[in-house]
Amino acid sequence: MRRGVFRRDARCRIVQERGGFRGPPTEASVLEVDAVSKAYEGSTSEPGDTLPVLADVTLRLEPGGSLAIMGPSGSGKSTLLSIIGGLEPPTSGRVRLDGIDPYAGDDAARAAFRNRRVGFVFQEHHLLAGCTALDNVVVPALARGRVTNAIAVRAARLLDRVGLASRADHLPAALSGGERQRVAVARALLMSPRLVLADEPTGQLDSRAAAAVTDLLVELASESGGMLIVVTHAEAVAARVGTIRRLVDGRLLDGTVRDGGPAP
Ligand code: ADP
Repeated sequence: MRRGVFRRDARCRIVQERGGFRGPPTEASVLEVDAVSKAYEGSTSEPGDTLPVLADVTLRLEPGGSLAIMGPSGSGKSTLLSIIGGLEPPTSGRVRLDGIDPYAGDDAARAAFRNRRVGFVFQEHHLLAGCTALDNVVVPALARGRVTNAIAVRAARLLDRVGLASRADHLPAALSGGERQRVAVARALLMSPRLVLADEPTGQLDSRAAAAVTDLLVELASESGGMLIVVTHAEAVAARVGTIRRLVDGRLLDGTVRDGGPAP
């Protein structure tokens, strides 16, 4: 690990310190989504008006499992990811990851659930413009305190895994769209999440870059039994993830499709 890689300047204050990193949790992960429904309240100016978005969604992911969710715009895909990721409580039903219900505790418990167990990749990479690629990968560690040597080494390894070791010092503006999204993938994997949630992660990429980013997500997320859910409208991307389920009008259809083959 090179010295001085974590810059301290007005735009990107990331501090490195010595200390241990406990590494990924060792238990096998399971995701259970049981009869989740969601209706947004106050969607219109009519008092008491609610907008039903998800109806009775049930799914289960086993250790190392990956799933693509497809569906038309407005069918509730992002809402479902937000509920699974501890960002938005369901109206009814239950989510459990490794047996933990993110909505059973207070806001701090929910924040800890997201930080320790879930990695997010969005269509917009949301990289910090004033920070290098390596500094951006390290960002999730800041929520847990300072950046230890072990975290710094893991961040550099992840950048290497996504093919950007030689770009560690580059600012996002100096990277292509595909490279920026690969930085976002490395950032999502930094804390060894048990579950990676990707919302249209390749929506702004050409088909070649989309394939490369998807393959990285599948490979890296499943290491050590981690799980992956990718929301996408691209059949080619969904086929690379393996199992596909379709969300239509808030209902998750039963039929699963493997390797892009036709639904039974
Ligand atoms: P998708 O990801 O499939 O495009 P979304 O989950 O983003 O669908 O949205 C599903 C429906 O819920 C849409 O009609 C959207 O307008 C509505 N919606 C999403 N978020 C909110 C919110 N915070 N408040 C009210 N309505 C919302």
